[in-house]
Amino acid sequence: MSHHALTIHQAQQKLRAREISAVELTQAVLTRIQETDERLHSYLTVCTEEALAQAEAADRTLANGATPPPLCGIPVALKDVILAQGVRATAGSKILEQFIAPYDATVTQRLKEAGAVIIGKVNCDEFAMGSSNENSAFTPCRNPWDTDRVPGGSSGGSAAAVAADQACAALGTDTGGSIRLPAAFCGVVGLKPTYGRVSRFGVVAYASSLDQVGPCTKDVRDCALLLDVIAGHDPRDSTSVNTPTPGYAAHLEQGLSGLRIGIPQEYFIEGMQPEVETAVREAIAHLQGLGAEIVSISLPHTEYAVATYYIIAMAEASSNLARYDGVRYGYRASEVEDLGALYQTTRAQGFGSEVKRRIALGAYVLSAGYYDAYYLKAQKVRTLIRQDFLRAFEACDMIATPVAPTTAFRLGEKLADPLTMYLSDIFTIAVNLAGLPGLSVPCGFDQHGLPVGLQLIGPPFEEEVLLRAGYAYERGHDWRTRKPPL
Ligand code: GLN
Repeated sequence: MSHHALTIHQAQQKLRAREISAVELTQAVLTRIQETDERLHSYLTVCTEEALAQAEAADRTLANGATPPPLCGIPVALKDVILAQGVRATAGSKILEQFIAPYDATVTQRLKEAGAVIIGKVNCDEFAMGSSNENSAFTPCRNPWDTDRVPGGSSGGSAAAVAADQACAALGTDTGGSIRLPAAFCGVVGLKPTYGRVSRFGVVAYASSLDQVGPCTKDVRDCALLLDVIAGHDPRDSTSVNTPTPGYAAHLEQGLSGLRIGIPQEYFIEGMQPEVETAVREAIAHLQGLGAEIVSISLPHTEYAVATYYIIAMAEASSNLARYDGVRYGYRASEVEDLGALYQTTRAQGFGSEVKRRIALGAYVLSAGYYDAYYLKAQKVRTLIRQDFLRAFEACDMIATPVAPTTAFRLGEKLADPLTMYLSDIFTIAVNLAGLPGLSVPCGFDQHGLPVGLQLIGPPFEEEVLLRAGYAYERGHDWRTRKPPL
């Protein structure tokens, strides 16, 4: 197997046995990027020199004989909303095109402390707003399985890079499905941890009550390994929770017997692509065969999730994005007469149309006279949605659903109509509203050879049980051994 195709755990073994060096591995991944990225556009910045220097340092650590840190010498890509000191962080926006991060995000710092090689910054929708990566201000990323199709968004670059072996693993962010949807569309594993499980410090904010960083990996074991590194309390993020992390990779093999898996009828809707439904139902039957008990549950407020999410996310975005004023960060318009014009022109020229739409709608739902009707009501419905889940978890230990109603769609297909685009998130966003962990695992392919994803949703801070189930499922299938035809 070529070095670039290694998973984290395979690379760990080979590095520790000194069968390959970290520099060779990093070089193999850099070459892979060079050979494939013209077709995919996963990367916005490749950190060639820094990565090779980090790999050399990893080789020194590996040579000194002591047990190396867990990700020593492993190339990992970061979604371009996650800061890495000294490296450009665009968040997929013109307004941050020249912005160099002055410090590391906590997750970046943890990756570095674990010995990882930061291989580059990957493409995403502008400020993580989108479901297809087509809102990237630079260039849309493409799906490695079919380059006429989207990789999903907003962490499209993270999923495409991992699927195409342009990184051993990547981090993404998930505000309303942005890790799980691209993971499903690209046939890789993606996890949105419980809100508060992973630090948001140093991550460009979209909607702060929903944003969460998570792993995007080639298999479930890698997902657990990466979560072990990034999870945990961070005093620099006031929403980060101080509860112990159980050691995710250590508990993968406990199996499924005795676990109850809930199937919500509201997540198998009319209009779904039939092959998606079939693949997901087969996956559920497989889990049952492994000893899980299948129970039927109801999440009655599901139909309000899309509307609720888009009100809350846009409200928070309009507030968060007020900081891009041409004075403090990034792009500044020139030849303007006064401060008001500076703000206006900077924002008019720096933001793309989807971002502007969301700032306008967000300001609208927060404005006097509309606040009660939209924002406040959305917050109340959000509570109902969370209560639906907590009630369901009295009858089951996790919930299984599709990740999305369809497989990857064609570039341009949904661009003209934002509402159809928002509907791609129908199965993922309730999980963010409720603050729960959600795992996306490949569970088959459609007739065009496009991957389908199974979503497993857990109670707060129960990532461990999702990973265990995902791992047991994955072991019974060979989906992960298929590679996109690049
Ligand atoms: N598609 C959703 C949105 O545009 C989700 C984005 C995300 O999770 N970052 O808001």
